Amino acid sequence: YVKKQGGSGSAIFVPDMYSKSLDRIILENELRKSVKEGHFLLEYQPKVNLAKEEIVGFEALVRWQHPDLGRIPPDKFIALAEETKIIIPLGEWILEEAFKKAKQLQAIRVLPTTIAVNLSAVQLESPDLIPFVQSLIDKTRIDPATIEMEVTESAFADRLEMSAALIRLRDLGFVVSIDDFGTGFSSFSYIKEFPAETLKIDMSFVRDIETSENSRAIIKAIVTMADIAGMNVIAEGIENAEQAEIVKRLGCREGQGYYYSRPIPATDIPELIEKFTGTRRQGE
Ligand code: C2E
Ligand code: MG
Ligand code: MG
Ligand code: MG
Repeated sequence: YVKKQGGSGSAIFVPDMYSKSLDRIILENELRKSVKEGHFLLEYQPKVNLAKEEIVGFEALVRWQHPDLGRIPPDKFIALAEETKIIIPLGEWILEEAFKKAKQLQAIRVLPTTIAVNLSAVQLESPDLIPFVQSLIDKTRIDPATIEMEVTESAFADRLEMSAALIRLRDLGFVVSIDDFGTGFSSFSYIKEFPAETLKIDMSFVRDIETSENSRAIIKAIVTMADIAGMNVIAEGIENAEQAEIVKRLGCREGQGYYYSRPIPATDIPELIEKFTGTRRQGE
């Protein structure tokens, strides 16, 4: 079997090894039921301009609010949702919710720039994605330039139809960024094949940035390459001031992480923006 590390250090098992387990069947049933009953919500984590300490956008992150089991993090259910294709209806809900929220925030003029949505490879492979997104643009009247689609490198590394879907998304005017950059294979060559707007440097390089010469060199290389390609770079997982400082020194203009803010409920967005604006004024 294949075992891969999840974002928070927990192990995600590729379905084969537990395909016959009762736990999985129960979880799958609960997942389906929760999609029907709407037991999901989105939290939003800001993306920050490092020099100005200004919020430049938000990333929507899904949470499963199970009526009995409580809050279940994405690392515990996204893989299963992908394997069972439940990610298709769930992903449609996520897109609709994020578009509506973006529209709302734009209407009251609190939204700085973009709302980012994570797209899974399974969604990109689905022939329904583009028609769905197109109908959502019509329905919500969202400006696609205010929506960013985050896709992991591996999502378009090997399959043609995924690249095709990404190109369609770009043609529709969406911003496309590559998530967890630096962890996949052939990173550099795929950049050449598919020029996304933004590279999100994986948090594993930021985690040990203070002590690892290697991580710093990798970040530096990514920044240099992005500059040449005219791409934007954002560092994920900044947890303290020192990491922010180093990342900035290495040439990253944007960052994201608990140091700036954890993911927050949508209702707290205006207050958080206010807080950042206030801090900046005091600093001037
Ligand atoms: P991601 O898209 O790379 O998102 C970043 C993850 O790192 C989020 O975890 C975020 O809460 C966490 N994070 C942010 N700042 C820090 C930090 O300073 N330190 C640490 N240790 N962690 C930080 P989350 O929300 O648990 O999501 C995990 C992954 O699940 C995401 O990684 C993404 O791959 C997936 N995911 C989350 N929401 C969605 C969604 O709506 N759709 C899809 N397809 N996948 C999603
Ligand atoms: Mg992401
Ligand atoms: Mg990431
Ligand atoms: Mg990830």
